[in-house]
Amino acid sequence: MTAFDYDLFVIGGGSGGVRAARIAAAEGGAKVGLAEESRMGGTCVIRGCVPKKLMVYASGFPEAVEDARAYGWDASLGMFDWTRFRTALENELNRLENAYRGTLKNAGVTIHDARAVVVDPHTVALSDGTRLTAKHILIATGGWPFVPDIPGRELAITSNEMFHLPTLPKRALVVGGGYIASEFACILHGLGVEVAQYYRGAQILRGFDDEARGHVANAMAARGIDIHCGTDVLRLEKTATGIRAVATNGTEREFDLVLYATGRKPNAKGLGLEGLGVEFGRNGQIVVDEWSQTAVPSIFAVGDVTDRVNLTPVAIREGHAFADTVFRGVPTRFDHGLIPSAVFTQPELGSVGLSEEAARAQEEIEVYAATFRPMKTLFAGRQGRVLMKLIVSVATRRVLGCHIVGPDAGEMIQLAAIPIGMGATKEDFDRTLAVHPTMAEELVTMRKPVRRG
Ligand code: NDP
Repeated sequence: MTAFDYDLFVIGGGSGGVRAARIAAAEGGAKVGLAEESRMGGTCVIRGCVPKKLMVYASGFPEAVEDARAYGWDASLGMFDWTRFRTALENELNRLENAYRGTLKNAGVTIHDARAVVVDPHTVALSDGTRLTAKHILIATGGWPFVPDIPGRELAITSNEMFHLPTLPKRALVVGGGYIASEFACILHGLGVEVAQYYRGAQILRGFDDEARGHVANAMAARGIDIHCGTDVLRLEKTATGIRAVATNGTEREFDLVLYATGRKPNAKGLGLEGLGVEFGRNGQIVVDEWSQTAVPSIFAVGDVTDRVNLTPVAIREGHAFADTVFRGVPTRFDHGLIPSAVFTQPELGSVGLSEEAARAQEEIEVYAATFRPMKTLFAGRQGRVLMKLIVSVATRRVLGCHIVGPDAGEMIQLAAIPIGMGATKEDFDRTLAVHPTMAEELVTMRKPVRRG
């Protein structure tokens, strides 16, 4: 019998890699090593979801203070101290990074703070010169921001740098119309920055329900974000006072900061996989089967490096399913079919299941929708409206999709995803008693479809 140094060697200490390593070691009894070249926790914890959400919170206080005044408080907003926030953020990320390390150590995983490349199907070489063998290798190296090759691209930053800015800009341009662009446009605006967002397509948040996208975009514009759809940047130029963006709409505007959020690419290059028979897709992703196995039987991959659905909870479930299958003797495939998600714009968008457009292309549907001004902000004199939407199959009565735009939409959609995943019908929703007074009660009180067809 060949003795390997490890049963499993994981490359990448992000959401997917950490979960796989922990389950394989703690519940599968495997001897596990994990290499991370940067900070433990990966994109989500260090330069993604977590610091982003804390920035979302930070950016919400000016409105909260205004609302407090409307509620009778003698409240006033002072200055935002970016450096103080950034220091607190860094401390929190250090705490989380240590927690991740602690969890892995407690599970018995050996951490290698080094870059690892694959030498052969059972060997990795670390940047500190060590070579290690493993029965299985898991690639969980995530993704990296992509900036298109335009003149002056070096003047732009990506989401990676957002959390380390020395100062907050006065005028910012956000390029892109996806999750990251739209979220940062709102964050920066909330922090008092003058924000323009350029997106090449017809409407931001492509892929989400059209009505929900329109609702978010209108609300963002009403708050003062200068959204330009059908607009892309031709080139960026350094000026004495900032960065000039020359755009396809004929404008030349100057900004202090240009943030490119034009997608992310799988981090699969330079890992030594090219010569081993591992297959790559058009976007550079590692091609895996439903078990997250590559064309080389001992090498698996999970998370953004496989470019299936690039979300932290998906990477976690893929990593968990891999560990269950290979180390716990419980064959498990993660079903990518029904994935709830939230976009932390202001207002938030929560979504699960099919958009109206996708559902209609599939079968005859009924659409139930309600828009209303929620009690809390209406009282404070705000005009912002919530959108609640259910897409229902005429044939089976099953709720095929749910889309919510409004405060705490992310929290609401998490719960709506449970009955929808269980196959609940519109009548199941109707049978559920309302919780009053809440926003979510609208989900169980919409009686008549607004459209059918
Ligand atoms: P997305 O793929 O969501 O959006 C990329 C945007 O950039 C799109 O609007 C796209 O336009 C545009 N774009 C792409 N290429 C170019 C180009 N060459 N020139 C101009 N524009 C371009 O990527 P993000 O960077 O926003 O996010 C990356 C991933 O991170 C997402 O897939 C998402 O899954 C995940 N994420 C999830 C979050 C959440 O769950 N809340 C938050 C943040 C990220 P077009 O639509 O025309 O292709």
